[in-house]
Amino acid sequence: MVILSIEKVSGERTEKFSGWDNTMNDFMKEAVKEAVAGMRDNHGGPFGAVIVRNNEIIARAHNEVIKNNDPTDHAEMIAIRKAAKELSRFDLGDCELYSSCEPCPMCFAAIHWAKIKKCIMVVPGKMPQK
Ligand SMILES: [Zn+2]
Repeated sequence: MVILSIEKVSGERTEKFSGWDNTMNDFMKEAVKEAVAGMRDNHGGPFGAVIVRNNEIIARAHNEVIKNNDPTDHAEMIAIRKAAKELSRFDLGDCELYSSCEPCPMCFAAIHWAKIKKCIMVVPGKMPQK
């Protein structure tokens, strides 16, 4: 699994790694939008995720721990469930996951078991900007 991290989400990005293209910023912004929507609706913590396949978002989610009283309803977990359902398979090896934060151990394991090979996240301790 390749893990790419960025320091902030804005019009500019850091030059921490090669292979970055501007669509990645767009996908990360969508993950952050999910996080904001979840907070606005009091569904859970400020966490959002999207799953991308062939440069297209196939699943999006935000934390719904409070809404569903389910401690496993993290954004990444819900996005993985939605993507697997969308593709009718559990192997998401041709997908990328964008997360508004560093995935927790549960989500990291789920990303691993889903065989997602690339995970892009915002660096811990840095607040994403709209
Ligand atoms: Zn998690």
